[in-house]
Amino acid sequence: MSLPSYISSENVGPWHIFLHQVDQVAPLLEKSLWPWVETLRRPKRSLIVDVPIRLENGEVAHFEGYRVHHNTSRGPGKGGIRYHQDVTLSEVMALAGWMTIKNAVVNVPYGGAKGGIRVDPRTLSLSELERLTRRFTSEIGSMIGPDKDIPAPDMNTNAQVMAWMMDTYSMGEGRTVTGVVTGKPLSLGGSLGRPDATGRGVFVTAREAAKRLAIPIAGARVVVQGFGNVGEASARIFAEAGAKVVAVQDVSATVYNPAGLDVAALRRFLQENKTLKGAPGCSEISREEFWSVPCEFLVPAALESQINRHNAGQVQARIVVEGANGPTTPEAEAILAERGVVVVPDVLANAGGVTVSYFEWVQDFSSFFWSEDEINQRLERIMAEAFAAIWQLAEDRKLSLRTAAFVIACSRVLEARAIRGLYP
Ligand code: GLU
Repeated sequence: MSLPSYISSENVGPWHIFLHQVDQVAPLLEKSLWPWVETLRRPKRSLIVDVPIRLENGEVAHFEGYRVHHNTSRGPGKGGIRYHQDVTLSEVMALAGWMTIKNAVVNVPYGGAKGGIRVDPRTLSLSELERLTRRFTSEIGSMIGPDKDIPAPDMNTNAQVMAWMMDTYSMGEGRTVTGVVTGKPLSLGGSLGRPDATGRGVFVTAREAAKRLAIPIAGARVVVQGFGNVGEASARIFAEAGAKVVAVQDVSATVYNPAGLDVAALRRFLQENKTLKGAPGCSEISREEFWSVPCEFLVPAALESQINRHNAGQVQARIVVEGANGPTTPEAEAILAERGVVVVPDVLANAGGVTVSYFEWVQDFSSFFWSEDEINQRLERIMAEAFAAIWQLAEDRKLSLRTAAFVIACSRVLEARAIRGLYP
């Protein structure tokens, strides 16, 4: 694969990676859609907000926040809110773009959006975090709404943050609007199955890929980067299915046991100690060694660009299942492809979260709630069908799974765009 010069530099930003992915897929789309491709190369609207809060010590601190609507051709914006010290507008633009593609891949009736605040939430007290969330929600109030744009959790945000967002928005409206965010607590119109949904989807797509490559799940070795909402649930569900989670890496440490880690014990240890360092039943290896641990499945479930040209050559996995958004750079992807490693792309692999977000939103509107079995079965069906369509197209047209996913998604988005036509 030849890469444009803006991709080959040392530090390629996620937005450029997204543009590159769109450029790659454009010539493969129906000719009638070509005039509309530019739609995907720029966000529909982006908002930068100042979020001032009073700290516990009485001082006022300012944080920068963002909400981006990448596309709303197929429905309202949808996508998470990230709190992280490295969040930038261009990162949020890329994440919003990937939401547009992801929502179209699983065919839920949404466009793509994303938001974030550049803040290290570990430095804030609980009440500072609440004030930050409420002020941010108020600042992006003109962008969001249950039929306009529906935020959800992402890195370092959770059901409590969603409850504060829902309450703040509802106060402004003078009524309780549960459908304005998803990933809420169960007591506020949240959905059963939502906390594990992304991890469950990661497992379902991994299993579907493994089936086609004749790799049994029982006894398969799994390596997971990130032990948050996505990484932990993926590891647990893999282990429940009989796989062996042999290495886990998070910001605090990389732990390894070739006989298999006890995922539940690891989770308890992390909850109690706030670090994986010193976890029982495993040894610690270096951050670099993590990438060369022999395994069948590698699940990157942390930040962008973690698999890059420096470590892609070391990856021993047969299948990379992208739990994170944008974890593999285009250069790394080319190296993996050359070495015969199959990549199940983020826009498919981690779409389970937003799929159950959609179920939550539908349940909120109808005020009728489904059982967990029903949710998991519907999730399974949507993910397995999306996988099958992408796999088939990839086989038929000799494409990577990512390119096939983009062909399907971009066609859906741009068909909607074309038939809507231009306003005014
Ligand atoms: N933040 C998740 C993602 O990146 C979920 C988004 C949602 O549920 O709206 O897919």
